[in-house]
Order: sequence, then structure tokens, then C-alpha cells
Amino acid sequence: MPRPIIATVSISALQHNLRIAKSRAQSTGRAAKVWAVVKANAYGHGLERAIRGFGEAEGLALIEPDYALRLRELGWKKPILLLEGFFDAADLELIVTAQLEFAVHSHTQLALLEQVLPTLAIKSPLNVHLKMNSGMNRLGFTPAEYHQAYQRLRALPAVGNIVLMTHFANADDPRNPGLPLTPQYACFEAGIAGLTGERSIANSAADLMHPELHSDWVRPGIMLYGATPGGGSAASFGLRPAMTLSSEIIGIQHLSAGDAVGYGSRFIAEKSMTIGVVACGYADGYPRHAPTGTPVMVNGVRTGTIGRVSMDMLSVDLTDVPNAKIGSKVQLWGDDLSVDEVAEAAGTIGYELLCAVAPRVRMTEKE
Ligand SMILES: *Cc1c(COP(=O)(O)O)cnc(C)c1O
Repeated sequence: MPRPIIATVSISALQHNLRIAKSRAQSTGRAAKVWAVVKANAYGHGLERAIRGFGEAEGLALIEPDYALRLRELGWKKPILLLEGFFDAADLELIVTAQLEFAVHSHTQLALLEQVLPTLAIKSPLNVHLKMNSGMNRLGFTPAEYHQAYQRLRALPAVGNIVLMTHFANADDPRNPGLPLTPQYACFEAGIAGLTGERSIANSAADLMHPELHSDWVRPGIMLYGATPGGGSAASFGLRPAMTLSSEIIGIQHLSAGDAVGYGSRFIAEKSMTIGVVACGYADGYPRHAPTGTPVMVNGVRTGTIGRVSMDMLSVDLTDVPNAKIGSKVQLWGDDLSVDEVAEAAGTIGYELLCAVAPRVRMTEKE
């Protein structure tokens, strides 16, 4: 018997969310094309399911070279983009054989390209996404270095299209004083002035909330899985949750006033009450730092967690679910409870919860 915890992925929700990403990207009359971002095993949803859900995307984008190869093995024939490019010379061979597009963000990568590309047998030109650091200070060439990097790429006979790429720090919070969106966009514009090439600038937040920014490619990730990038609830953008994490009650305890629950006795009953013990813990990816009261659904009724989340179990308040018993259905997040709400209660974001679903959790899909 497997444990009752199971993650169910809705393929039609993935497809629906992709259509929203596309219509947003094209909402100002542009025909922006979509890289569906499938890094981290499609934000925890599985690469096979992503292929089925995102068949209408122009390409799939991710970070991990080995997973890119896996996408080819699974039959994805359209473009694949490595968002951080290659990590060593062996990756370059993979790029050539699996026909991957890739970002170039550093002088080290440029030098390796100049050294290794002439030694490889290259049948079709390689499309490169030249990344600019427009203020976020993670990866990329500064605007001052950008033209020179572009010319070095252009000088390589194996290089085909060069896409002009950057990434926003605060598309979900455009007036953030640390790096507001408009100056960051202006910095990118100034840095690419005079260069030809398509632009690729928009993550989910920019796609959803800033169609005014000119981008030929958008790179939505989190929105495709039905969670919010910030700046409003996913449902308010018409997105549908793709993953439902559910389990069952495997134990019931009747507490008297003063009784303590779980490790550290973090919860002490103030009055007599009934609690349920759910087969879901931090070794399944549920956040251990979720405090008492983190929302959870039992038998379709919204209630809250109680005490500390342990490795394989957590406890829930059954005061408002008097008919609950062993075997009652529990939803940790999904169709009836947004992952963003659970994340917020636990002091994190939906991205982290979705990506953290552990390998021991069975996964299945529905149409
Ligand atoms: C992860 C990632 C995205 C997608 O971001 P979301 O916020 O999930 O939409 C887009 N571009 C790059 C470069 C990324 O690494």
C-alpha cells in the first residue's frame, strides 16, 4: 500500500494557463512568442506532463542541461533554451547534438565558445541569447560591455540568431525603490541601441502585468502552473492551479485542555478538541516552518494546521469538521486552496512549495 499522499497534475490547467500567457503576450497587438519555462522538473510537475501541457508553446526553457536532453528523449522537437547557458565544454557538445539554444552571460562562456566551437562539427547555426545585467546584478554583461560581447558572438561562424535578453527584478512590484521597473527597462533599451535581434525580457510578472514592454519572446514560468508571481492572486488573472496535493487523515486524537501536540509541544489545547493527523510532512516537501493555523482543507472544509510539522505527519484542527474520520480526504493545496495562500502563511512563495514536492510523493495526472 502506498501512503495516501499524492500530487495530481491537471493537463488541461497547464494548457489553459499557457493560453492565458499567450493572449497576454499578444494583447497589445504584438505577436510575442512563448518560451514555457520548465526548469526544476517543470516547477515540480514533471517534464512529461509539461510536454503534454505546453505543446502549443514555441519552445521550452530550463536551466538543467541533462533535463534538456531528457526533453529530446521524450520527443519534444521544437526549440529548447538553456536559460543559464552551458557550464562546461561537455555541455557545448550536448548543445550541438541536441540542438539547444542557450544564454551567454559571462566572459568565461564567451571565451569557451571561441575556443571550443571551431572544434565541433556544427550542422545548423546555434541561436544564442545574449544576457544583459540591466541592474539585477545576477547574471549578464553590463550595458557598457554588451556591444563588445555581441560583436564577439557575431564573429563566430557557428552562431545564428542573437536574441537580446534580460531579466527583471521587480516586474511584480514596479515601484520597488531598489530597482524600479521603468529605469531597468530603459537601461536595457539603452544597452541594446543599434543592435539587431529579437528581444526576450518578460517572466510571468512582466507578461501578466506589463504588456507595454516590448518583447518578442516572453518567458512565463510560475503562471503556467497556476500560481501567482505576485501582484495579485492567480485566480484574479484567470489562472487555474495545475497541481493538487492531497492526502488523508491517518489518526484522530481527542484532547483535553492542557494537552500538548507534537514535537516541541508547540500547541497546547485551551479546551477539549479533536485533531486529525495527516500523512504529509516536511519530507514530502510541506514547509516545516508553517505555523499553527496554516490553511488546509479537510472533507472540503477549510481549517488549519496545529503544532509543528514533523517529517511524515502534520496535525489539523477538526473542530469545524466533526464528521472527519480516518480516511477523510485532506487537500494541502490545489483546486480548493491556493498554494500561494499556504505559502504566505508559511512565509514563503508558491514557487518554493511546488518545486519542493519530494520524490517520494506519488504523482499522477488528469486531463
Ligand atoms: C525562472 C525564469 C523565468 C520564469 O520566471 P517566473 O517568475 O516563474 O515566470 C524567466 N526567465 C528566466 C531567465 C528564469 O530563470
